[in-house]
Amino acid sequence: MSTPEYDNDNIFAKILRGEIPCFKVYEDDHVLAFMDIVPRGMGHALVIPKEPCRNMLDASPEAVAHVHKIAQKIALAAIKAFNADGITIQQFSEDASGQKVYHYHVHVVPRHEGKKFGPANVMGDMDAIKANGEKLVEALE
Ligand code: AMP
Repeated sequence: MSTPEYDNDNIFAKILRGEIPCFKVYEDDHVLAFMDIVPRGMGHALVIPKEPCRNMLDASPEAVAHVHKIAQKIALAAIKAFNADGITIQQFSEDASGQKVYHYHVHVVPRHEGKKFGPANVMGDMDAIKANGEKLVEALE
């Protein structure tokens, strides 16, 4: 399989360029983390590299390492912010895996004992997502 070209107009590229808004929770020179607007669990966040890459298959090893380093940081903050019992990390690469947005991203989904993953197609309540983003930011400080 050859990896197709990176599309500069994907939605996360637009978020990185500030063309569309996001609930940002963390940013440094190499990554951005923000809230998923279809949360599969309370406080579901995404970590993306700033370098243009479709997914883990064409990302630089440095981007993969840094994204995961920050995913761990967000995960630890989420345990604190949401009193979570665990964290699910997800990453999809290419169509066959279920990838929908073609800019590399890692999902950080806080989990609570006995609570199943939420549906993949139900937009979250924006006020709740904003409030959860603020809790994450506070826990990251
Ligand atoms: P996947 O490519 O399968 O990992 O899915 C893409 C993820 O990005 C889904 O969980 C979407 O809810 C999420 N998503 C799509 N657009 C946005 C957006 N504008 N802001 C935040 N999350 C988004």
